[in-house]
Amino acid sequence: MRHSEYHRSHHIGWLRAAVLGANDGIISTSSLIIGIATAHATHQNILLTGMAGLVSGAMSMAAGEYVSVSSQSDTETADLGRERDELATQPEHELEELTSIYIHRGLTPELAKQVSKQLTAHDALAAHARDELGIIDTMNARPIQAALASAATFAVGAALPLFIAFIVSTANIVPFVALTSLVFLALLGGLAAKVGGANVWIGTGRVAFWGALAMAATAGVGSLFGVAVA
Ligand SMILES: [Zn+2]
Repeated sequence: MRHSEYHRSHHIGWLRAAVLGANDGIISTSSLIIGIATAHATHQNILLTGMAGLVSGAMSMAAGEYVSVSSQSDTETADLGRERDELATQPEHELEELTSIYIHRGLTPELAKQVSKQLTAHDALAAHARDELGIIDTMNARPIQAALASAATFAVGAALPLFIAFIVSTANIVPFVALTSLVFLALLGGLAAKVGGANVWIGTGRVAFWGALAMAATAGVGSLFGVAVA
């Protein structure tokens, strides 16, 4: 009888990446907008800067994600190739290796030997990939999907402060972008914590704190430049 059990970690991977991408978009673009607005730029230049931040940020997220996931995929493929060779050239040694893994996991030596023999007969490479290398099917790298997903979530996050900067007057950009961005960040942080089964208030406070810190830092730099330019 299969009992129903819901493990959040099975479903959280893509959400965590989406929230992180959106957080990045909100924090980096709102900080950029606040920095340039504090330096007394025109409304048009502020929007231009925000748009440039959105596009460059989304592209760098996509590039970074594509490169890191591709290199993970390269490493997995190379490991699997080496494992396949070892299974072909030294099957006895590989069987011993698998047996010792199961003994370390708590099986008796007899049972470990039996299990490793049966799993090897069933699909040796899959057993070694999963239990020796930790490569599980679900984690198969998909660089293009990962790159597109992180670029899209970054762009959605960045569009929020940019939209606010677009609809309010120049004088109100700093307070409105700062306030609304902190609210967006708090909502995202709370959502990610809730879905992940973690403490919502800690999740909210953590991301709002770092967002506020980033905006304060760029406002500081912006006001320095504002004074220098004036
Ligand atoms: Zn092996």
